[in-house]
Amino acid sequence: MDLEHQTCVVTGASRGIGRGIAVELASEGANVVVNYRSSEGEAYDVVEEIEEAGGSAIAVQADVANIDEVEAMRKKVTNAFGPATVLVNNAGITVDKKFTNMTREDWDRVMDVNLGGIFNCTSVFFDDITDAKDGRLINISSVVGQQGNYGQANYATTKSGLFGFTRTIALEMARSRATANCVAPGFVKTDMLETVPDRVQEKIIQRIPLGRFAEVDDIAGMVSFLASPKSSYMTGQILGVNGGMEW
Ligand code: NAP
Repeated sequence: MDLEHQTCVVTGASRGIGRGIAVELASEGANVVVNYRSSEGEAYDVVEEIEEAGGSAIAVQADVANIDEVEAMRKKVTNAFGPATVLVNNAGITVDKKFTNMTREDWDRVMDVNLGGIFNCTSVFFDDITDAKDGRLINISSVVGQQGNYGQANYATTKSGLFGFTRTIALEMARSRATANCVAPGFVKTDMLETVPDRVQEKIIQRIPLGRFAEVDDIAGMVSFLASPKSSYMTGQILGVNGGMEW
């Protein structure tokens, strides 16, 4: 198993892509921290699924947009498993509206979680990751950060922001041999995609060369590779997992 001795914090792991990542990392032998904001029942279901398969996990509530809660999460992680060695910045939200209808509040809500959360989690766990033997930072962006998307000016801005962030942090972590990479998924079958009207989903599928939406496992497999020693010479990269969409 590639991830034995690793402690992986996955933000937003109660549902969707984060859940798939948590289960996959645990199956490779990692101790996994299932972070959630409000879906407590679902987060404990993920822990149960991991433990039933012989893995090790805890659920920790923290709103990534609140740095005090992220610091409290770090204490719980350290007490349970020792310092984190892998951080997967996955938690994200959408508040979709045509730009001319978007309020400053809509803009700020998405910034606070999707970029504020990245700042909070990365800064709180930075030293743990760089002190680790195989430290890893993995940021979950989106093809929308590459292509833009109607009604998602706030979300697309946060997801593009992760490209510059990842490349910069990769430089700043390199001295310690820790790596920072970014996964940019295409459209993935989760609750987030459910918010997109059916007629829009049909149009999106026509733009995907492989002709289907991604499954959560398509993304989790890439994250597992990036978390493992197999990717130790890769850093500062943006990896599209999008069924062949151009950008
Ligand atoms: P999802 O099904 O809506 O799940 C979002 C997860 O994030 C939930 O576990 C939620 O927990 C958590 N979360 C939201 N706000 C949080 C906060 N402030 N603090 C802590 N956790 C929070 O979303 P998803 O589709 O799996 O997306 C996961 C990531 O992949 C996001 O960054 C998204 O932008 C990206 N992505 C998604 C797609 C797609 O098509 N689905 C495509 C490309 C990229 P609670 O339920 O407890 O709030």
